[in-house]
Amino acid sequence: MIDLHTHSIFSDGELIPSELVRRALVKGYEAIAITDHVDYSNIECTIEAVKKAKYLEDVLDIKIFAGVELTHIPPSKIAPLVRKARDLGAEIIVVHGETIAEPVYPGTNAAVVETPDVDILSHPGFITEDEAKMAADNDICLEITARSGHNRTNGHVARVGLEAGAKLIVNTDAHSTSDLISKSEAKMIAMGSGLTELQALKILDNSKKFIS
Ligand SMILES: [Zn+2]
Ligand SMILES: [Zn+2]
Repeated sequence: MIDLHTHSIFSDGELIPSELVRRALVKGYEAIAITDHVDYSNIECTIEAVKKAKYLEDVLDIKIFAGVELTHIPPSKIAPLVRKARDLGAEIIVVHGETIAEPVYPGTNAAVVETPDVDILSHPGFITEDEAKMAADNDICLEITARSGHNRTNGHVARVGLEAGAKLIVNTDAHSTSDLISKSEAKMIAMGSGLTELQALKILDNSKKFIS
C-alpha cells in the first residue's frame, strides 16, 4: 500500500509519527505520506516536525514522505501557500478539496487545479469536468478516499476524473490506527467508486510515480 494522505498529532490525528509509521508497516505499507492540516499559521512548524519522522527510514523498510494538507485556505491564498510549502521542503502537497462533508470555500477545486505544483486534490466533491481536465493537464491527482463522509462523492470523482483523463489515486486520510487499510481494501474502495477491477488496479499504480 502506498498512502499519500494521513494525519498525525501535528494536526488532528491520534498518533505520533513513529506510531503511525509502525502501524502502517504492520499493515503492509511500502510508503506513507504524513500530510497534516496546515494554513499560514502552522505551515513552518508542522513541516519541520513531520520532516523529522524521516529518521525512521534508516532502519525501516518503508518510504516516509513529509507532506502537508493545505486546509480551508481562501482560494486566492492557495498558490502562494503551495509555493511556501515546497520551499519549506514538503515532499507531498495535498490540498483539501471541496468535500460535501464540510463548508470548504467554493472555488477551492478551481484554484488547486490551476496550481501545477500541487500533487493531490483530496476529496474533491462534485468536481466539474473542466476542473478535472485542468487537473489532467497539470498532472494533479484526484483522490478517491477511504474516509467516511468525504467518500460520498467517490463515484462522481471517479467518473468525471476518468472521462477527463485525470490520474485518480486512493488514499486513506487516516486519523487513527483503524483508518489504515491494506492494498486489497484500497482496491475495493476503488471498485466501490464504480471502477472495474482492472481500472482499480491501474489507479493503485498511479501512486507509484511518487516513490520512483
Ligand atoms: Zn482533507
Ligand atoms: Zn486529510
